[in-house]
Amino acid sequence: MTQFQDKKVLVTGGTRGIGLAIALAFAAKGATVHVWGKSESNGKSAKERVDAAGRKPATFRVVDVSSFAGVQAALEAEAGFDILVNAAGITRDKLLLGMKEEDFDAVVGTNLKSVFNTSNLLMKHMIKKRWGRIINISSVLGVMGSAGQSNYCASKFGVIGFSRALAKEIASRNVTVNVIAPGFIDTDMTRSLNEEQRDAILKQIPAKALGAAEDIAHAALFLASDEAKYITGNTLIIDGGMTA
Ligand code: NAP
Repeated sequence: MTQFQDKKVLVTGGTRGIGLAIALAFAAKGATVHVWGKSESNGKSAKERVDAAGRKPATFRVVDVSSFAGVQAALEAEAGFDILVNAAGITRDKLLLGMKEEDFDAVVGTNLKSVFNTSNLLMKHMIKKRWGRIINISSVLGVMGSAGQSNYCASKFGVIGFSRALAKEIASRNVTVNVIAPGFIDTDMTRSLNEEQRDAILKQIPAKALGAAEDIAHAALFLASDEAKYITGNTLIIDGGMTA
C-alpha cells in the first residue's frame, strides 16, 4: 500500500484511543503527523509515542475543535494538510427527559461542528493541490439509534450527511471524503462502561469481542491511499458484524 512520506496529516482527537492509533499508523508509514487534543498531558505522551513510531517529529497542539475561532487560530501558522482525520469525540449520555441543553451542545459541537470547522478551513489547500483526503470518524450510532444517546446519534448521523454532501462538492478536485463508522472499540470511551453494559454490548456483536483501535487505523490508511482514489462519500462500518 501507498507510503505517506510526502504527506502531512492532521488527526484531531489524536491523543488517545482511535485517533492515537491512526496517528501512530500514519507515522509508521512515513507521514508528518500533527495531533490535536484538549489535554496537554495526554498530548505530550501521544507526541512521544508518535515520534517513536515514525522518522519525522510529530507536533501536538491543544485545540478545542468545537470552536471555529480556535481551529482558525491553530491553523494560522500551517500551510495546510494533505490528509485530515476528524477523530475527536465525546459522549454525554442521558435520556432526553434529563438531557440539558449543554449536554446536547457539547456533543454536537465536539463531534459534528468540529468536522465543519476543520473541513471548511482545510479544504481550500487540498483543492488547490488537487489532492486531499478527509476521513471522518462517525459511529454505528450514526446509522442506528441508541436510547440515552440522542445527542451522540444526532452528531454521528450528521457527520455522515455532512461527508456525503462535501464528497459531491469536491470529488472532481481529487479530494475524497469518507467516513469510518466503528462499532464498540476498546478505548477510554468504552472502558467507562460498567460490566453489565459491556456484557449487553458483547451479546450484540457476532465477533464476540470489542474491536481494537488499530482495526480502525488500518481502514484510515486504506482510505487515504492512492488505491482508494475512487472511493468517496462512503461509510465503512467496522463493527464485528453488529449492524449486519
Ligand atoms: P477517547 O479515547 O475518549 O478519545 C477522545 C479523543 O478526543 C481524545 O484525544 C480527546 O482529547 C479528544 N477530544 C475530546 N474533546 C475534544 C475537543 N473539544 N477538542 C479536541 N479534542 C477533543 O475516544 P475514542 O474511543 O478514541 O473515540 C474516537 C472517535 O471515535 C470519537 O469520535 C468517537 O465518537 C468515535 N467512536 C468511538 C467508538 C468506541 O467504541 N470507542 C465507537 C464509535 C465511534 P484529550 O485526550 O485531550 O481529552
